[in-house]
Amino acid sequence: MARTKATATATERSTAGTPATGRVFSFEFFPPRNTEAEEVLHTTWAALAPLQPHFFSVTFGADGSTREGTCETAQAIQTSTGIETVPHISCIGTSKEDIRAILQQYQQAGVRHIVALRGDLPSGAVGTGELRYGNELVEFIREETGRHFYIEVAAYPEFHPQASSVEADLQHFKRKIEAGADSAITQYFYNPYAYYRFIDNCQRLGISAPIVPGIMPIISCTRLSRFSEQCGAEIPRWILKRLQEFGDDRASIRAFGVDVTTELCAELLENGAPGLHFYTLNRAASSLEIWKRLGLGEGEAQRPDA
Ligand code: FAD
Repeated sequence: MARTKATATATERSTAGTPATGRVFSFEFFPPRNTEAEEVLHTTWAALAPLQPHFFSVTFGADGSTREGTCETAQAIQTSTGIETVPHISCIGTSKEDIRAILQQYQQAGVRHIVALRGDLPSGAVGTGELRYGNELVEFIREETGRHFYIEVAAYPEFHPQASSVEADLQHFKRKIEAGADSAITQYFYNPYAYYRFIDNCQRLGISAPIVPGIMPIISCTRLSRFSEQCGAEIPRWILKRLQEFGDDRASIRAFGVDVTTELCAELLENGAPGLHFYTLNRAASSLEIWKRLGLGEGEAQRPDA
């Protein structure tokens, strides 16, 4: 079976990239845009909190959304759940002065753990700002704040869509780690071999930081296709065809998505992945079900609709 190769190297994989504390599980949210979305997010974090993940995270200006609200949302979640909630920060199109101010805001709020990204310029925007890449942002954060923050960065098993070459992308990822990042979370993917190969490449380059797979539960074909188009994550043909055939049948899409994603997570964990980071899209149901099926812990949470 195709899995043999991955399983054969499981011991090797489980020793490299595994944090001293064991596997790390986390859930990502984005700041709500209005009161209704705020209520949905509240229900979502309340449903996921009983799973006691290692942390929650809140995006910063992702997918063209506002950059406001990240710190406040993170604080609200942490206060409500007692679970560390990690704000993201991005640098593109922003001055050093503004980034310094955001870092100070995070420090004053007691934040010790962040996800640092380049971000994407909104369409039509001009000028990249003073920090152009993730490695420059990490370097700046270390210069400004020393070891105050535990820094996570992004990794791309199927490579970043703007990368000039596979090797260049790997080298740029390495630069972020060398600049002082502590660990990484990947872009989502549905082909575990892309991740295994990426880990092998990182090991070849001497990168030993943990690289946690990012997991995107499937709840909408249109939304997933749009995201994947933007971020360069491949939807395998066998998944896309099935999703397209489900049409507007959201229940079937979600059920199929949970099956596919649970299998992927199980395979990754069996082969030594140092944890999982769920892109919840502010919905709990699919992540909860995947978690339960993986037998990761007895959540007592109620399951809201996806
Ligand atoms: P970089 O590491 O800077 O890489 C971007 C591109 O530039 C790559 O093609 C790389 O090969 C190239 N490159 C890197 N360094 C150099 C260099 N020194 N010289 C030349 N080329 C270089 N976006 C948001 O806006 N907000 C969020 O909160 C957010 N959260 C995310 C969380 C995760 C876990 C992930 C995986 C992504 C997230 N994103 C978010 C999306 C991310 O900002 C985009 O994918 C963005 O296009 C790249 O960010 P990066 O930090 O990986 O960039």
